[in-house]
Amino acid sequence: MIIVMEENAPDSAIERVIRRVEAAGLRTHLSKGIERTIIGCIGDERIISQIPFAAMPFVEKVLPVLSPFKIASRAFHPDDSVVEVGGVRIGGGALTLMAGPCAVEDAESLLASAKGVREAGAQILRGGAFKPRTSPYDFQGLGEEGLKLLSETGKALGMPTITEVRTLAHVPVAEKYADILQVGARNMQNFDLLREVGRTRKPVMLKRGMANTAHELLMAAEYILAEGNSAVMLCERGIRTFETSTRFTLDVSAIPVVKQSSHLPVIVDPSHAAGKASLVSALARAGVAAGADGVIVEVHASPENALCDGQQALTPAEFAGLAAELKAIHGILREKHGTPGGARAAERSAEARW
Ligand code: PEP
Ligand code: MN
Repeated sequence: MIIVMEENAPDSAIERVIRRVEAAGLRTHLSKGIERTIIGCIGDERIISQIPFAAMPFVEKVLPVLSPFKIASRAFHPDDSVVEVGGVRIGGGALTLMAGPCAVEDAESLLASAKGVREAGAQILRGGAFKPRTSPYDFQGLGEEGLKLLSETGKALGMPTITEVRTLAHVPVAEKYADILQVGARNMQNFDLLREVGRTRKPVMLKRGMANTAHELLMAAEYILAEGNSAVMLCERGIRTFETSTRFTLDVSAIPVVKQSSHLPVIVDPSHAAGKASLVSALARAGVAAGADGVIVEVHASPENALCDGQQALTPAEFAGLAAELKAIHGILREKHGTPGGARAAERSAEARW
């Protein structure tokens, strides 16, 4: 249930409503928008459905939230949420470029890739240290040593970093060195891991599982949000279909679908979807055109020598060309519509609900 306060509702009236909800044993989630404040009620709604909140001063209306995800829903938070990390804004109309190698391999190659992506305009440096490989005989990542290298390189170049955590034990280690924690596709429904990253105060990027629906992605995000971590972004990285000409099938439609029903930023990963460098740019352009708030692209200074996913890595020069195209697409959308995809989706969604 959400309680929508009147435009001029004073803090004391908002407080009164919150106290009444919490006295009934439910938790509240406050969303202060530009025009009005919305109080989201989290817990067993049957307990409070009998309380006449609509009769309380400055309450405009009381509405049920029909979706099973609550904190992630647009109803709870009509404006796009913005995740801020090291001076970089993700969501709310910005276009954020994240790039770097699949895995941290050694200091020298990481620095070469990182310098290349930074020059091309990437704001966030990616690099895996705990790699989820299909084969146990493949390069598994450098572990903590890799995280140290990632952190040093990020600091040297002034770039916040993102890295994957695969198990509960990785969380405190990655928290120490990285700026954004990534939960990979294979762990999207590892609920214990979701809760654990939810208990940190680091931004989290949750990747969609290759066999999961967009709805399940939002339910998984809810686990992180429910632990009190509101800095969550989602990532569309392709799903398994009958098509074999790409590694996965990028579900472009999931981008506007998710943005219509959620305020969370959506990042598109064209690299793991394509599985082939020659297809990466086309998918990235499609993702940004569909309203993604950013991209995460695998870039390697020397793809032919990469220890992981070299076949899908762009060179820094290729990434520079792509970055310019993405900024141009994003610019056209902003010029035409005022704000890119997300905020427009919010307007439509708000109209549909209220
Ligand atoms: C990755 O980003 O390094 C990765 C392994 O991606 P995914 O979890 O989407 O397969
Ligand atoms: Mn990879």
